[in-house]
Amino acid sequence: MFQLPKPGESVRTTCAYCGVGCGIIASVDRDGMVSVKGDPEHPANYGRLCSKGMALGETLGADERLLTPKIGDASVDWNTALEAVAQGFRETIDQYGPDSVAFYVSGQLLTEDYYVANKLMKGFIGSANIDTNSRLCMASSVAGHRKAFGTDTVPGTYADLELADVVVLVGSNLAWCHPVLYQRLAAAKETRPDLKVVLIDPRRTRTDALADVHLRIRPDGDGALFAGLLSDLNRRGCLAEDFIRDHTSGIEAALAAAEALSWDDLLHQTGLSRAELDDFYALFAANTKVVTVYSQGVNQSSMGTDKVSAILNVHLATGRIGKPGQGPFSVTGQPNAMGGREVGGLANMLAGHLNIEDPEHRQLVQDFWQSPTIAERPGLKAVDLFRAIDAGDVRAVWIMATNPAVSVPEAQAIEAALAKCPLVVVSEVLETTDTARWAHVRLPAAGWAEKDGTVTNSERRISRQRALIPAEGQAMPDWWIINQVAKRMGYSKGFNHETPFEIFCEAAALSGYRPEVRRDYDISAKAAISSQAYEALQPFQWPASAGSADSETRFFAQGSFFHADRRARFIAVTPDNAARTTPEFPFVLNTGRIRDQWHTMTRTGRSPRLSSHLAEPFVEIHPSDAEALFIEPADIVRVSNGQGHLLLRALITDAVSVGSVFVPMHWTDQYAACARVDALVPGLTDPFSGQPAFKNVPVNLQRFIAQRFGFAVLRDKPKAIDADYWAMAKVEGGWVLEFAQRFLTSNPVPIDLGSEPEFLSLIDSGSQVGRQALFDETRLSALLFTDRQPVEVPRRWATDLLTKHFESPGEKLACLAGRPRADVPDQGATVCACESVGLKTITMAILDGCESLSAIGEATGAGTNCGSCRAELKGILDAHLKDPTSEAAAAAS
Ligand code: SF4
Repeated sequence: MFQLPKPGESVRTTCAYCGVGCGIIASVDRDGMVSVKGDPEHPANYGRLCSKGMALGETLGADERLLTPKIGDASVDWNTALEAVAQGFRETIDQYGPDSVAFYVSGQLLTEDYYVANKLMKGFIGSANIDTNSRLCMASSVAGHRKAFGTDTVPGTYADLELADVVVLVGSNLAWCHPVLYQRLAAAKETRPDLKVVLIDPRRTRTDALADVHLRIRPDGDGALFAGLLSDLNRRGCLAEDFIRDHTSGIEAALAAAEALSWDDLLHQTGLSRAELDDFYALFAANTKVVTVYSQGVNQSSMGTDKVSAILNVHLATGRIGKPGQGPFSVTGQPNAMGGREVGGLANMLAGHLNIEDPEHRQLVQDFWQSPTIAERPGLKAVDLFRAIDAGDVRAVWIMATNPAVSVPEAQAIEAALAKCPLVVVSEVLETTDTARWAHVRLPAAGWAEKDGTVTNSERRISRQRALIPAEGQAMPDWWIINQVAKRMGYSKGFNHETPFEIFCEAAALSGYRPEVRRDYDISAKAAISSQAYEALQPFQWPASAGSADSETRFFAQGSFFHADRRARFIAVTPDNAARTTPEFPFVLNTGRIRDQWHTMTRTGRSPRLSSHLAEPFVEIHPSDAEALFIEPADIVRVSNGQGHLLLRALITDAVSVGSVFVPMHWTDQYAACARVDALVPGLTDPFSGQPAFKNVPVNLQRFIAQRFGFAVLRDKPKAIDADYWAMAKVEGGWVLEFAQRFLTSNPVPIDLGSEPEFLSLIDSGSQVGRQALFDETRLSALLFTDRQPVEVPRRWATDLLTKHFESPGEKLACLAGRPRADVPDQGATVCACESVGLKTITMAILDGCESLSAIGEATGAGTNCGSCRAELKGILDAHLKDPTSEAAAAAS
């Protein structure tokens, strides 16, 4: 049995965030503080970690945790809560049938959690109504893989990016979303400057720092781009005729569909010039060693599966697949999206990576489980699942480790559906989330540092996650909670596992059960390992069939695909990229991630270091659009469509094209008044994958006219805020708050601090300029500035005051000046979160003669730790070298 580490001992584990799946060495000190560093021996990261991984230790602790099971607001014991869940599901099934219940699970679960959840739903309840939030992230890749290969198989490995001569990044902001993979690619390019990087993205992201070519494609133009590439490769005589003849079928139809696109179609659908297309096609044709990396920009689309098929077509047509430095490569968003795929976390797949629509596969799984039933058809995919709840067809839902009230399209409709669902169960780490507020039963789940199991990263590598600290309160691992409910529903036989090790062995045995049934995912080599071997398990890639030794694996270099005839299928793709905008909603909204936040901020929002990078929800607007709409920098902007509206800070930048805007996906009602971007995203999904189109949403923009703007730093989280717009973030020593009011309220302090304190005040009631400070002996409790304009107070200076001691009345009064004393330099907005280096410090270093990243690092420390900010530093440096004024450098941020 696994023992928690003693103080000072180290444990090898895996990062909780993105699909790169970095190895971590974590240790716990005598006070229970967790510190982490990259594992130099882990093949995903070789010691590197990004800013999010580095700050994992800061996201832990009992603060804001759900510590006991709750029914309504009342704490109950585990038995009472589990009985309530089991009885609720049992009665619903008895009355309305198995399809009247559903599980909505998460790529944050460990594979062992996923395995038992899927087993309970598909093998014992008898429905396939279990879907995962990975549906939102990579379902189009799964559908594209299965159409082409017969299985959902990622053919290559991370090393292929380093071995390629050309890396094409499609719809992937690798620098911010998969930072360590970006760093590996950056290091390869530094060693081999001839390695070409092509970035295909409507937006100029930080990944641009590495790109030799940036194709600013129209949203959803990638299907046409790659269809055009297929016919161009044919015209040039670059098709791999032997590979096509021996290992594929359907090339004729795929070519005919591609060749039906005229140059005019290509130019219109991609928005690129003829020269840009010619150059890209020539580069692709001339280089055998090409890897095409694609991510959410491809997947999160109403035509995502076709876009994936168009990419796979060109790799199949050139035989560039499964060989070192060659292949298509889908990188997943979440730490265990791949693990969920392996054990049937998607509503349209079975455990063991098997196919729910294949009767032989269903029989195999049912026989292995000796289960009373097996789901016979795919269940409801995420968007349809919540619509079925709304329609009353699903009457009991169990949501585990995810926050659909923020992350699923039509976010308000999701809440409305949950509000009327007779039974909502939420397994959560936190006491309050936007979703948990609708739960009838809340179950406290163990968090990242408290649980044991395995995860699989984007290159099919399975790694151990190991517990470091005891679970907070009464929190329990998800697999245990699921097993307990299953037993209480009467399914004791299949759910008697005492440890995640037992579940792992069962899943591994299933993957090799009846080996005559061909499959890609097979880890049966691990089915009979000892518990000691499981504890010591080293990262390994699948397949790992019984009797084989661990090895680096690639698929399909010699064909042998998983369709019955072992041939891959070309898919005929007919792209149609008609504009979605209308005169009423003339802007295209694109959504995505930022560098230092993860999903709905339930963990990263707890880290002051991470929140210091971008502390407010924002909308990126092109300068021409901003000018036409009279929007000034730092104004509040109303972004709206027929579904709802958001209030966001304007960030005016030519990183977005004219007519396009970008809004990050992270902010929730816990951190902002009105910034859940999925309130605007419609439930428009890809017809094959069910994945929603998050990146091509018609909206309108309007300047929000506020009569009062405010900024505050606060020791305690405010209890209530009386403002139309507000956003808050955790900082060292307290909280930072931004707000704006459309109409003036009589109270100059529109924040409920839980008492009526005596402020040190300077207020001009005519101009609305107000400055107020509140002290508790030598410590600042609150400092508040209001103005008719956006408040111009250096944020970094103000937040630093929360950690200072004020010894004299003069020092306290000086705070009201709203700027640092002349002898205290202001660092400016944080760029490097690890070393806490701000933009002004970096700009000064550049003006002092630093002309390389290493020189800036030496002078300031910026970029010398995790390296996540190096793309941003390069942007600042390049802007300065192009136009050596401090304004240019500042504009780069
Ligand atoms: Fe974690 Fe960053 Fe590695 Fe992703 S790249 S797994 S977020 S450390």
